[in-house]
Amino acid sequence: MTKIDPWQNALKQLADAAKILKLDAGIHEMLANPKKILIVSLPVKMDDGRIKIFTGYRSQHNDFRGPHKGGIRYHPDVTIEEVKALSMWMTWKCAIVDVPFGGGKGGIICDPKRLSAGEKERMTRRYAYAISEIIGPGKDVPAPDVYTTGKEMAQIMDVYSVMHGQTEPAVITGKPISAGGSLARNVATGLGVAYCIREGAKKIGLNLKGAKVVIQGYGNAGTFAAEYIEKMGAKIIGVSDSKGSIINPKGLDSKKVLEYKTAHGSVVGYPGSKKVSTEELLTTPCDVLVPAALENQITPQIARNVKCKILAEAANGPTTPEADDILFKKKIMVIPDILANSGGVCISYLEWVQNLQRYYWTFDEVASKMEHHIVRGFNDTYALSKKHGVDMRKASMVLAVGRVLEAFEARGLWP
Ligand code: NAD
Repeated sequence: MTKIDPWQNALKQLADAAKILKLDAGIHEMLANPKKILIVSLPVKMDDGRIKIFTGYRSQHNDFRGPHKGGIRYHPDVTIEEVKALSMWMTWKCAIVDVPFGGGKGGIICDPKRLSAGEKERMTRRYAYAISEIIGPGKDVPAPDVYTTGKEMAQIMDVYSVMHGQTEPAVITGKPISAGGSLARNVATGLGVAYCIREGAKKIGLNLKGAKVVIQGYGNAGTFAAEYIEKMGAKIIGVSDSKGSIINPKGLDSKKVLEYKTAHGSVVGYPGSKKVSTEELLTTPCDVLVPAALENQITPQIARNVKCKILAEAANGPTTPEADDILFKKKIMVIPDILANSGGVCISYLEWVQNLQRYYWTFDEVASKMEHHIVRGFNDTYALSKKHGVDMRKASMVLAVGRVLEAFEARGLWP
């Protein structure tokens, strides 16, 4: 399959929404360009004494609605185009769930698996120093992304705090609890996915009690989605990981499957289940299908054969554009990634608020505040999909661009 250029893809999605909104050409062009991109050169002392130079980026797409927000990824394939696209998607993601942030994204071209802990820390700290002039609680608030964790977030917070002579946890989110992180962050994405499925079920008249759910990918997003959807009364009948897929039409106990995976390294072999192919898993008759692993899993071939009522995208980009059209024609409700997996950014927002107010909420308080944002984002997206007769993905973009536009119109253009 040819790799979809993320930046061209992001521009196309914006153009589609602009058409529906009849967006002014100048405003469209303004939104089609990040506000600022910083390219930094990072000299790092390696363990063998050499100095190696890494290239890092921070793209700030838009801040009409609030400070920039978005992760930092460490990967050999990081490109400026990818970082730009991801920063634009963050603008829309924050707007959909109505958290007062704009979009940003950062990355360093590196192979994190080939760096020692010390090399990684020195690279992280140098990057934090290099971007320190453009980040800050009111300017740009980064977070973890691919191959970065709470550890790197705490190191970035530390550099920023030392440089400013005061401890400033609100400069970054996704921190360990001991350094100002929020409760419920670990479950955020899966819980958000479950809230979206619950709302989707209400719209199409699906009773979640006993509803059959299939989950592809049993990692952070997949396991917590399974746990919470099961608590809502649904039955998990199929799951998978990188080693294979399993099915049991009578139901699988999500917690016991996780215990089995932890003990044996895979869900495959779980007692009472049958091993099946990826295609069989994805096309098995069910009510809800949750891709929670990789991109481009729902191809046109799979889309033609899926037998679910709701497809909730926990993963980023699991459905190809051609498959989207097929699913729309089949009247399957696709809850797009930008909405379905927005639990993480909602809790990032709540972490930032807790940091700013120096007062911390309980798990339930955080979860219920997140629920409010996701449910509203879901309902507003659904209403626009009905109004314009488009799928939920296009509707979510119309909602997002419309909200950014409202902020622009309220603030005006200066000078
Ligand atoms: P993870 O690494 O914790 O889990 C990924 C799971 O997918 C693992 O169980 C792995 O075995 C499985 N997997 C890998 N290849 C597979 C294959 N070919 N078939 C079936 N399963 C396969 O990752 P995660 O954090 O759960 O992220 C999963 C997806 O959700 C990604 O697309 C990610 O971008 C997206 N996402 C996650 C979060 C989050 O907070 N965790 C937030 C937003 C989006």
